[in-house]
Amino acid sequence: MDTGLKNRVAIVAASSQGIGRAVAEALAAEGCCIAMCARQAQALQHAAEQIAKHHRAKVFALPVDVTDPQAVHEFVEQTVSQFGGVDVCVTNAGGPPAKGFLATSLEDWRSAVDANFLSTVYFAREVIPHMQSKRWGRIITITSITTKQPVPDLVLSNAVRAAVVGLVRSLANEFGKAGILVNNVGPGFTATQRLRELAKRRAQAFGQSEKQVVAAWAEATALQRIAEPREVADTVVWLASERASYITGQTILVDGGAYKGL
Ligand code: NAD
Repeated sequence: MDTGLKNRVAIVAASSQGIGRAVAEALAAEGCCIAMCARQAQALQHAAEQIAKHHRAKVFALPVDVTDPQAVHEFVEQTVSQFGGVDVCVTNAGGPPAKGFLATSLEDWRSAVDANFLSTVYFAREVIPHMQSKRWGRIITITSITTKQPVPDLVLSNAVRAAVVGLVRSLANEFGKAGILVNNVGPGFTATQRLRELAKRRAQAFGQSEKQVVAAWAEATALQRIAEPREVADTVVWLASERASYITGQTILVDGGAYKGL
């Protein structure tokens, strides 16, 4: 399948590990020039070097906190000056902590809004003018299965991700005429550092082993297993590609059938 992504410029936010890194890797494998960012310079540099080496890809990496609008501005500007534009922007950030409502402080709410909603706004504001000038663009937000089905003890994710879906739909409607397609990908249980941390906390809270917690999550899916980050990344690649040219404003779950609705 020709994805038409060769030589496209792709920004992948929060990409030193986990799903973001897998997305950067998968887009590099399709021949994209990759701009990566994350907070930890060393881990980011290591990931960027590995991706450049394995895929002979052009990779630009800059330490950026995605909750800082000025840092996002500079990252996008530097990407454009390195690669001549920006075609694909995948927004991502670390997930919010697992808490029930009464255990959640106002500071937790503000942090979740900053990391999981406003960071998407910052990237969209920066990349859309560049995409408009080329009359081609793809914005893909990484959120969660919580956009369709609330997860117990993830009240921050359950509430804040819904705003991203509203934004995605609005941007899709406003910028479709400029050739910009905007979609949202919602992972289910995916084998990353984030999932290991959630399993550890849940195991402590319920007096179970981490293995039992993960096994119960796997059983909650139709496929009876946890996803590999690459499986989420492949869906992002497809949405970024020419093969998904009539899809916009959608939320696509990559959850192995964990969502129980129709
Ligand atoms: P992860 O913790 O493995 O990786 C998160 C990445 O984000 C890292 O590279 C980290 O350095 C970077 N990051 C975190 N905060 C940042 C910030 N402020 N600025 C820049 N970079 C930042 O997590 P993951 O599992 O890959 O999750 C990615 C997203 O997908 C999260 O929003 C998570 O909640 C969501 N998600 C994950 C799962 C899962 O099972 N793993 C399920 C549903 C949703």
